[in-house]
Amino acid sequence: MNEILNMAINDMAGTSFDCSCGEHHTFDVKHISMGKGVLPDLLKFAEPFKGQPVTMISDNHTFDAAGSRVLKMMDEAGFDVNSHTFQTGDGILIPDEGVVGRVLMELRPNTGLIVSVGSGTLNDTAKYVSARTGIPYIIVCTAPSMDGYLADGAPLIKAGRKISFVATLPYAVVGDTDIMKEAPMHLIHAGFGDCLGKLTALADWYLAREIAGDKCCETCVTLVQRALDKLIANVEGIAKREDEAILALIEALNLTGVTMALVGISRPASGAEHMLSHFWEMDFIARNKFPELHGIKVGIATPIIAEIFEIMKDDIPDVAMELAPTKEECIDLLTKVGAPVLPTDIGIERDLFYNSIVGGYTVRNRYSVLQLAVDKGRIEEIAKTITDRIYGPEA
Ligand SMILES: [Zn+2]
Ligand SMILES: [Zn+2]
Repeated sequence: MNEILNMAINDMAGTSFDCSCGEHHTFDVKHISMGKGVLPDLLKFAEPFKGQPVTMISDNHTFDAAGSRVLKMMDEAGFDVNSHTFQTGDGILIPDEGVVGRVLMELRPNTGLIVSVGSGTLNDTAKYVSARTGIPYIIVCTAPSMDGYLADGAPLIKAGRKISFVATLPYAVVGDTDIMKEAPMHLIHAGFGDCLGKLTALADWYLAREIAGDKCCETCVTLVQRALDKLIANVEGIAKREDEAILALIEALNLTGVTMALVGISRPASGAEHMLSHFWEMDFIARNKFPELHGIKVGIATPIIAEIFEIMKDDIPDVAMELAPTKEECIDLLTKVGAPVLPTDIGIERDLFYNSIVGGYTVRNRYSVLQLAVDKGRIEEIAKTITDRIYGPEA
């Protein structure tokens, strides 16, 4: 029972066990290799697909970071690889119809494997195309920027709207810390922000279990918590790109991914802080503004949700309150890694901010501290208090 608690992340691939939550969990990824200098493991994992066409996708940033090495390595090992690199200049790739369509057009008949070299968009695109074509994919991670490497959801932009498609888990994941620690610092900050959000997500999960009777898996809570403890213990090393700190960040992101796959929902990874982030993102997309990286927004939203926990503490069961971080703790952690802290740092205006607190609970049908505040009739008052604190009293 709960064997996974004693496993290293690289051993979790293919695991299946009876859990104390009453479920039998399975984790359907064939291979995981995370660590220093592990890039060549890709060849071992891809071996069964030798002799079939392989398509590699990247963008100009990720091609330079790892794609050129992957291509050379696979060519020399005798794989039949065609490579497509999206040219985005200094910009970032947006996962829309054009990108998904282009990847489909690059597939040759009877393609056996997709190798995606990248993070957010390239990961989501590969996952989606894999789900629709049945062609397995291997992801070569280039940045510790989000928790989706080991998750099966693919958020994509369709007709200008963000939609979370259920896609598929990777066949294998290769995360070489030598590559990931060189990622742009903004991506590292995003990964940290996405992890920070797990602190309030877990508290929300307990809250939902206590108040709304939601199912909760303690094994998953423990896995995520342990990874977060390790990350927080190493927080000073993030800004300096220290090996151990970057590995702790990658592990925290990926362990969260594992837990999402185990329970089949995003509960261990996403609570009210993600609702605020999505609310801001939808508004930015609707106005054609750059929506900022997912984890940057989640990081900024986390102290806000922690503050709501503090304001609502008399109505919150002790077990959930004990899990919730304090606002100060969250701000301190974001400051230590050098990530943006305030909504104003990424151009969120006063009205949007206020409306996101009041309406954040409508983003998805999931019980959270926002729903509790709505049910207790306190959401407007809370929104005003926090908005005034951040933006100053209304003129
Ligand atoms: Zn997230
Ligand atoms: Zn369980």
